[in-house]
Amino acid sequence: MKVPFNKPFFIGNELEYISQAVKLGKISGDGLFTNKCHDFFEKKYGFKKVLLTTSCTTALEMAAILIDIKLGDEVIMPSYTFVSTANAFVLRGAKLVFCDSNSENPNIDPAEIEPLITSKTKAIVVVHYAGIACDMDVILHLAEKYKLFVIEDAAQSIDSFYKNKPLGSIGHLATFSFHETKNIMSGEGGMLVINDEKFIDRAEIIREKGTNRSQFFRGGLAQYDWVDIGSSFLPSDIIAAFLFAQLEKLEVIQKKRMKIWNCYYDAFKSLETSKKIKLPKIPEYATNNAHIFYLICRSNDERVALISHLQDDGILAVFHYISLHKSPFYSALKDNRELTNADRYTERLLRLPLFYDLASKEQTHVINSVIRFYN
Ligand SMILES: *Cc1c(COP(=O)(O)O)cnc(C)c1O
Repeated sequence: MKVPFNKPFFIGNELEYISQAVKLGKISGDGLFTNKCHDFFEKKYGFKKVLLTTSCTTALEMAAILIDIKLGDEVIMPSYTFVSTANAFVLRGAKLVFCDSNSENPNIDPAEIEPLITSKTKAIVVVHYAGIACDMDVILHLAEKYKLFVIEDAAQSIDSFYKNKPLGSIGHLATFSFHETKNIMSGEGGMLVINDEKFIDRAEIIREKGTNRSQFFRGGLAQYDWVDIGSSFLPSDIIAAFLFAQLEKLEVIQKKRMKIWNCYYDAFKSLETSKKIKLPKIPEYATNNAHIFYLICRSNDERVALISHLQDDGILAVFHYISLHKSPFYSALKDNRELTNADRYTERLLRLPLFYDLASKEQTHVINSVIRFYN
């Protein structure tokens, strides 16, 4: 039996909506389905304003432009994250200041942030790893104290919460991904969430190549002009049509993913009790959105052996980030701080197959294979 790590899927009206968009005669950006997606997020999660983007990567780039990152500004972020979290700010000339993860989960360790703040610090970027919230009260308190922006890289965080607040609604700005590896997908795709009103007008301009085209289409202007920097950050309505079909089935998708996640968790509980692996811990203030099921091995060697054992059984399990402070690109700027927790997740974290169409006999095959490895 072959079990892939991830698999894109249809859940309902994806093809029907794409066909509708074409028949309506508008498949460029900000068509009917883009507006439907915007309404969905603003109503369901109370986000002040959302704008679909071509990816979470480009939404992060918009965030960096919006907070006016300039050469030499410092941005604090976890080292254990995807390159896009970092690239977006480096592209604007920022100096990255990497922070360690905490010992309980791969999220940024709030206790490690304050010593990293200098007069040049402009923002803290948090990543809610596996859709599990960072400890936002501590981070918001620091941001307030030092007048910093907070940006949530909420790429993995759809439908997850911190003390009953939806992730993505807490920072000044937040970004989501609809890449095919995420819970809700459109192949490539993303979204910028604007929680601080003052960014709304400029965000629309930056997303439309630096023009006030959005305002023009709403009927407020006689023509549209080039008024700021920008790029083409808006996705085709074909992407939005696919995405909207998935959003309509959000609850079905989440319920299924949670069932798969819980099934793994229950099956591996005894391996954790016997101290062979560590399982994800969900802090009291956070919810689980079943984005990733991971386990932590006792060593890197053990992870290598487990991946290979699973592969022999036809199962693709994968590790995740390689801490950015250890990357070839960043090494020139290295400050030689040890980020021991980030290194531990780099070396020992393993993700198991988790996708909507994962059949229960496939999951049983994965579970049995892991248990056979440890016994
Ligand atoms: C997936 C992901 C991204 C990038 O998303 P894209 O939509 O592929 O650009 C950025 N940050 C994190 C934490 C992610 O998981």
